Amino acid sequence: MKKISHIGVLTSGGDAPGMNACIRAIVRTALFENLEISGITRGYQGLIDGEFKKLNSRSVSNIIQLGGTILKTARCEAFKTVEGRKIAYENLQKNNIDGLIVIGGDGTFTGANAFSKEYDIPVMGIPGTIDNDLHGTDYTLGYDTATNTVIEAIDKIRDTAASHERLFFIEVMGRDSGCIALNAGIAGGAEAILLPEKPLSINSLCNLIERGKKGKKTSTIVIVAEGEAHGGAYKVAQQVKELLPIYDTKVTILGHLQRGGSPSSFDRVLASRLGFASVKQLVLGNSRHSVGFQKNTISLTPFEEALKEKDFKFSDDLMEIAQVLAQ
Ligand code: ADP
Repeated sequence: MKKISHIGVLTSGGDAPGMNACIRAIVRTALFENLEISGITRGYQGLIDGEFKKLNSRSVSNIIQLGGTILKTARCEAFKTVEGRKIAYENLQKNNIDGLIVIGGDGTFTGANAFSKEYDIPVMGIPGTIDNDLHGTDYTLGYDTATNTVIEAIDKIRDTAASHERLFFIEVMGRDSGCIALNAGIAGGAEAILLPEKPLSINSLCNLIERGKKGKKTSTIVIVAEGEAHGGAYKVAQQVKELLPIYDTKVTILGHLQRGGSPSSFDRVLASRLGFASVKQLVLGNSRHSVGFQKNTISLTPFEEALKEKDFKFSDDLMEIAQVLAQ
């Protein structure tokens, strides 16, 4: 087993709160292990363009509380090609980097998997995405913060919805994963939740809305995950309005504000644990694994397995809870 001496770290794909806390943990753990550590800016694009900078303990001072990523992130088509990955490898060699940690979502892991099959550089992945849809971890970095952001928005909208006795449709992120929608919906007391994984007909949705009205509710909030079957909050609102024209309906799309903000304490601790563990695993000679958190402990999942299946991280009982408690 070759001992590593110099780690490179990058953030890639969609940014997520907690990425900075994770970079900080990686840098300081690497230094503790007497390793050199370089940050690669703009994800795989920076790897190909040779954007490397040496980091020290002070480089990551005062970042644990920051959203976004100090290393920037990018989408990089060139890394999807054999030629692009060859340049990336040559750049790592030129900078004497012999271990790599990537923080990102499934696209980032797909790239890391391809790269680590082709080249003899150990690579570890850290799941960083607000969608919480990667297999091999109960929580991805950023998910908890994003859910809290959504809850804050629901609470504020509830104030105005209740004052005006309105029906609000709030669209949240989640093209394939309804994790934010379901959990924020329960935590925000939504009257109905529409998810990509569990289609709900407009008729059934109208029944839920009417149930609230009959129960003398003064406001109704429907959480719509962007990837649900009807095409998002505007389309859902339009179809409901056709069946229930009496309602005063409003639509709010939360959009990118869900990605930003200071990470929650949960995300900071998760980021610290995953960052710490990823360096330790490289030192132990591990490679090609995602470092996750399952059943309250660090877990390792081979990239291939992490990518094989999308995790359905909520069970039917959560759907049932949402409906029962929204009466
Ligand atoms: P995320 O990591 O958040 O899912 P993306 O899907 O945009 O974000 O992926 C981030 C980057 O990972 C892409 O811009 C690309 O550089 C790399 N990547 C994605 N898919 C592949 C692939 N099939 N092969 C190699 N690299 C990939």
